[in-house]
Amino acid sequence: MSRLNLTRQEYKRRWSREYRKSCKDKGVCLRCGSPVKDRHTNCLSCRVSINKGQNQRYKNNPGPCKALQKKLRAKAKKEVFDHYGRKCAWCGETNPAFLTIDHINNDGNRERLQYGSGGVFYLHVVRAGFPTNLQVLCFNCNCAKGFRGYAPSTFIGFQDGDGI
Ligand SMILES: [Zn+2]
Ligand SMILES: [Zn+2]
Repeated sequence: MSRLNLTRQEYKRRWSREYRKSCKDKGVCLRCGSPVKDRHTNCLSCRVSINKGQNQRYKNNPGPCKALQKKLRAKAKKEVFDHYGRKCAWCGETNPAFLTIDHINNDGNRERLQYGSGGVFYLHVVRAGFPTNLQVLCFNCNCAKGFRGYAPSTFIGFQDGDGI
């Protein structure tokens, strides 16, 4: 690889990209060069020690790490609403302060337990490739759906056994 016309930073970036690729092709650990199984970039013992180092760094100075996580979650949230739209599917509410992601089949609790709620959930949605069992609802419609099973706009007055 030629160093001509490259800044030091570009050169380093390219070199590490090519190094990663060659390790991946050969199926060896990026750190110690011993063979790895599956699609990991590092062997098990290196992964353990890398993890330890990361945990220690987080403990010593969580600030930048938390800031990065916050940024990633905010980005994921934006991508999720870019995908599903910024409008309640039932009443048309568009104020972002009221909008939330709803599980069409009401299986949200199971997923929340499995993948976490809030920002972590948005990360999961992006990673899962925007599943089709989700839609955007406002909090009002979401609550009405949960408690009553129908949209507030179709509410026709109190009925017997309405639960209120
Ligand atoms: Zn290794
Ligand atoms: Zn609504």
